[in-house]
Amino acid sequence: MTKTVTIIGAGLSGLVAATELLKTGHHVVMLDQEPAQAIGGQAFWSFGGLFLVNSSLQRKFKVHDSYDLALNDWLGTARFDRLDDEDVWAKKWAEAYIRFAAFEKESYLKSMGIKFAPVLGWAERGGTSAAGHGNSVPRFHITWGTGPGLIEPFVNYCLSHPSFQALLRCGSTRRASVSMPLTIPDLIHFIHWNPSARQAMIIPGLY
Ligand SMILES: Cc1cc2nc3c(=O)[nH]c(=O)nc-3n(C[C@H](O)[C@H](O)[C@H](O)COP(=O)(O)OP(=O)(O)OC[C@H]3O[C@@H](n4cnc5c(N)ncnc54)[C@H](O)[C@@H]3O)c2cc1C
Repeated sequence: MTKTVTIIGAGLSGLVAATELLKTGHHVVMLDQEPAQAIGGQAFWSFGGLFLVNSSLQRKFKVHDSYDLALNDWLGTARFDRLDDEDVWAKKWAEAYIRFAAFEKESYLKSMGIKFAPVLGWAERGGTSAAGHGNSVPRFHITWGTGPGLIEPFVNYCLSHPSFQALLRCGSTRRASVSMPLTIPDLIHFIHWNPSARQAMIIPGLY
């Protein structure tokens, strides 16, 4: 069933969520307290360094990496010791994220048109053994074009999609009667009592 999903925050996480929702046929309304120039959030300013496990670049540079090694590194750093309590989900999240980074992430990013610089960095390297703290092998992959190169395909995908609308702060052209930053009561008001605001503005061409 097609749904209209409201995403608060036009940073990278919001843009990726919007992209995936649009791909599966849903409508997306994206809200952000910042103007259109700030779309992409922190990721725009970032180095675009991405954690990948057993990537094609690592293999090319003969860096031997695997799901098991990366998980061992993560667990060695996190030292989860409350597995009967609050660490349960943290450990599950770590396992799921490393599974994604080892088996899906590179092909997913490449399917979005993202490329990598032929450089492999060694970030978050606390120790140098697999049992020590931090990454025991280089896993820091630099997006071609750094942060702007990382957000660009997601921004373009969303802005060119007919089922995407974004309401961003835009000086005098801001038409919705909400305060910025948005609060939950604002949103309830915005979504339920001001349906015309759903067409308030956007944005193709503003980015
Ligand atoms: C200089 C720099 C370099 C970095 N380098 C790297 C790197 O190399 N590798 C790496 O992995 N990470 C890096 N990071 C971190 C990474 O960029 C961030 O973790 C990531 O971009 C966060 O994305 P996000 O979408 O979760 O949040 P954000 O980018 O913070 O986006 C959140 C959005 O929500 C909006 N918002 C917040 N509150 C409200 C509200 N109440 N109402 C409406 N809108 C709201 C904000 O305006 C913003 O647009 C770097 C960060 C910086 C600043």
